[in-house]
Amino acid sequence: SRRNKSSEKSLLKDLLEGNKTALGRSITLVESNQLKHKEMAEAIVEGALPHAKKSIRVGITGVPGVGKSTFIESFGSYLIEQGKKVAVLAVDPSSSVSHGSILGDKTRMEKLVTQKNAFIRPSPSGDSLGGVARKTRESILLCEAAGFDVILIETVGVGQSETTVHSMTDFFLLLKLAGAGDELQGIKRGIVEMADAIVINKADGDNQKAAREARLEFKRALQLYPPKPSEWKPQVQLISALYEKGISEVWEMITEFKSSTYKNGHFEHNRQEQNKFWLFQSINDHLKSQFYNDPKVKIELEKQLRLIEENKTTAFTAARALLKLS
Ligand code: GDP
Repeated sequence: SRRNKSSEKSLLKDLLEGNKTALGRSITLVESNQLKHKEMAEAIVEGALPHAKKSIRVGITGVPGVGKSTFIESFGSYLIEQGKKVAVLAVDPSSSVSHGSILGDKTRMEKLVTQKNAFIRPSPSGDSLGGVARKTRESILLCEAAGFDVILIETVGVGQSETTVHSMTDFFLLLKLAGAGDELQGIKRGIVEMADAIVINKADGDNQKAAREARLEFKRALQLYPPKPSEWKPQVQLISALYEKGISEVWEMITEFKSSTYKNGHFEHNRQEQNKFWLFQSINDHLKSQFYNDPKVKIELEKQLRLIEENKTTAFTAARALLKLS
């Protein structure tokens, strides 16, 4: 309707001026599953896209308790001191299952929350990982259009969420602890392979010696991996998020990564590859939801499921019958 269009326009205008309320409302539209909100969201994302300025998107992962929120609080505050605008988003598919998210609740990052140049948004909930991922990707664009130049995307080390965050970020940072075995930290080999940096947190007090040893171990382990397409050699750093030690070095490293991958063309190429990946992802999502929401399919699906229970058909034949319908 006409009224929707004018409110869309003013929302977009406020968003482009960096208004955080407008940014929050736009993300709410992106996260909504209502058709009329989806249409508005689409228009706003489209309008925002040309204004999505250059940013760096940093993925941050690590098991609960490793210090992700403490790190984001310190790191975010440091970046703001450097004149940056920092957005923090989260990808936490567990929140839709348990209805209590591991990430992004309001009590976390208390200092950062009050900063004018920080924007913090918990993970969208009530969705599959695929749904959460699409919404987060669109939210990244909206944050960039609102002038946020560092986007931190946090995820917890469960399931496939790290791979998802890796596929939407430029730099992937794995937070770890010294002294805890890999099993204890829930670290799968694939995640270490994705990392551009392993940052060992809580390198303070009695922990310092163990942290230095862990650093050597990780450095050695990383040498066994094949070179990355970015030609970037993953770094291992020690920090204390709580006592704000090693924080500026993390930013220096990311800056170095950005300039070296800009130079060799990887930065742009990687974003293009990510966009292509998300194109196929979007098509798959769309086809799937169109199929399952088709009333003919819904009826026939019930029938075919019953036939399978009664051993009267095979999965393959049933699928073919269903796919013919839409
Ligand atoms: P998250 O679950 O990964 O977000 O972890 P939190 O940031 O909530 O931190 C878990 C606990 O570790 C909290 O009690 C923090 O105060 C503590 N912690 C975080 N960073 C550090 C650090 O650098 N040194 C020490 N000693 N404790 C830390």
